[in-house]
This record gives sequence, structure tokens and C-alpha cells, in this order.
Amino acid sequence: LFLFGSLCAALIALQLSGPTFSEESLKGMRVLVTGASTGIGEQLAYHYARMGAQIVITARREHVLKEVVKKCLDLGAQKALYVAADMAEMADAERVVAFAEEQLHGLDYIVLNHIGSSQYGMWDGDVAHVQWLMQVNFHSYVKMAVKALPALEKTNGSIIVVSSLQGKMCLPYALPYSATKFALNGFFGSLQHELYMKQSNVSVTVCTLGLIDTETAMEKIKGYIDMPAYPAHEAAYQIIKAGALRENEAFYPWYTFYASFFRDWFPSYRDQVIRKFYKYKP
Ligand code: NDP
Repeated sequence: LFLFGSLCAALIALQLSGPTFSEESLKGMRVLVTGASTGIGEQLAYHYARMGAQIVITARREHVLKEVVKKCLDLGAQKALYVAADMAEMADAERVVAFAEEQLHGLDYIVLNHIGSSQYGMWDGDVAHVQWLMQVNFHSYVKMAVKALPALEKTNGSIIVVSSLQGKMCLPYALPYSATKFALNGFFGSLQHELYMKQSNVSVTVCTLGLIDTETAMEKIKGYIDMPAYPAHEAAYQIIKAGALRENEAFYPWYTFYASFFRDWFPSYRDQVIRKFYKYKP
């Protein structure tokens, strides 16, 4: 127990050390945020706006995006524009990056955050849905990153990928979603190595989130699991901070780091705990 405690303390100290974040550093930065009509994406847009960035936001619902843009301008964004797009369409993914690059005259950050809607509960065997969700949650991320890379190379830019503990640990009730998040972690984690090897100046930050109190998430988990949900505005702030500090990985809330770190230490105990946590609803 003493050794375990010391290890945890050392890990916390390691996490607390390192460079400090200055909101000022984001003033005037050119940022593209996806999935920004609601939830964490909307909060990302408001933080960037408050910090004086120039932002392009995207999602499917134009009327909601319009409202978010209005609020971003009120909060102090140097520029705020929206472009409606459906990430199930690869042409849309490409078009959004081209729009942002053109309107902002370059790009410093792209924050890939959107997710397609997916049912929560026992998997129903719908393979077509898995393919569709892969397109929205994974292929569009790859498409946008590839399209944005040349612009990001010019500006020491950054790609921020919003992932989940469900991209690190196998959990029940969100199989297609989990598959897309594992794919993101695999692709962007490997891309980090290749960018480093070719001495690219583009950074990639992969963010591992636990349960966050967005409307969609709260609605989905109702009756399946009881656990505290952490605030979306704080999750968004931590994502922005990690991206600005060019960290390879970010974890929010705190338990996602320990869950990822100790994941494979005691696998049978881990699985027992997971199965106790989730309520079976046939
Ligand atoms: P929300 O469901 O609140 O928001 C999803 C966003 O994606 C919306 O802006 C939605 O807007 C947009 N979107 C949905 N479908 C499409 C589509 N086909 N094309 C383009 N945009 C689309 O999600 P959260 O804020 O809860 O999650 C944000 C990120 O955080 C995700 O990557 C998620 O995996 C991650 N995360 C969230 C957790 C949580 O508990 N909330 C936990 C772990 C990770 P519109 O409908 O207008 O298109």
C-alpha cells in the first residue's frame, strides 16, 4: 500500500511539474473546432473566444451554430464564423478545413471533437451502424488532419483530438463508439511518432475524457451507470490547455489517468470491477 501511495504521489508530482499555460498565448490564434454546436465543443468555442482567438466552428445544425457564433463574438473572439457540415460526408470534412484555412488566412489549431449519434446499451448487431460511425468519428478526423497538415506545418500548429477512456479501456454498452475511439488513439498515437521522427513542427494532443456532464452523455447513461459527471466547461479548458502546451496526451478528470495507467496490471480484478459498475439492462 505504501509503495502504491508513493507511486501515485510521484505520478501526481510529475503531472504538476512542467511548463505553465498562458491564456494570452491563444490571442489571435486561428482555430477550427468541430462538433461545436453543443456540449464540450460549444464550451471549447467559448473558451477560445474569451481568450481572443479567431475561430471557425462546425456541426450540422446551422441555426444552433449561428447562436454559438453570436455568443463567441460577445465573449471577445477576434473573429467567429461557422460552416455547417455533415462529417459522414468526406467531402464535407475536407470542405470545412478549406473554409477555415481560407477565412482565417491559415490555421494554428484544429480541434477534432464531433461524434455521431450512437445508441447506448447492449450491442444490437448493427454492422452498418458501426461502419457509419467509423466514418463520422474516425475517417473524418483522419481526412481533416491530412488536409490541415500543410497549413499547420507553416505555423508550428497543433492537432487536438478529443478521445475517451473508452478508447483506452474496453467497457460495455457503447461498442461502436468505443471502436471508433480506439481507432483514433491508434492512428493519432502512431502519427505522433512519425511526426517526431521526421522532425515535424506539428504537435498532436490526444485527450482522454471520462464522464462529462453534457446533455447527450447524461441522457445516454441514465439507468446504466451511477458515477459522477465532471463539468463540460472544465473539460474544454483542460483540452485547450493541453493543446497549447503541446502535450502528447491529456487526461480529464483525474481518474482517467490512473485507469489508463493501471489498466493491465490486474486484469481479472479490473474486469470484475467494471462488470459490477454497469447495471445489466437486457
Ligand atoms: P455532444 O453530443 O454534446 O456533441 C456532439 C457534437 O457533434 C454536436 O455539436 C453535434 O452537432 C456534432 N455532430 C453530431 N453528428 C455530426 C455529424 N454527422 N457531422 C458533424 N457534426 C456532428 O457530445 P459531447 O460534447 O458529449 O462530446 C464531445 C467529445 O467528447 C466527443 O468526441 C466525445 O467522444 C468526447 N467525450 C465525451 C464524454 C462525455 O461524457 N460527454 C466522455 C468521453 C469523451 P449537430 O447535431 O449540430 O451536428
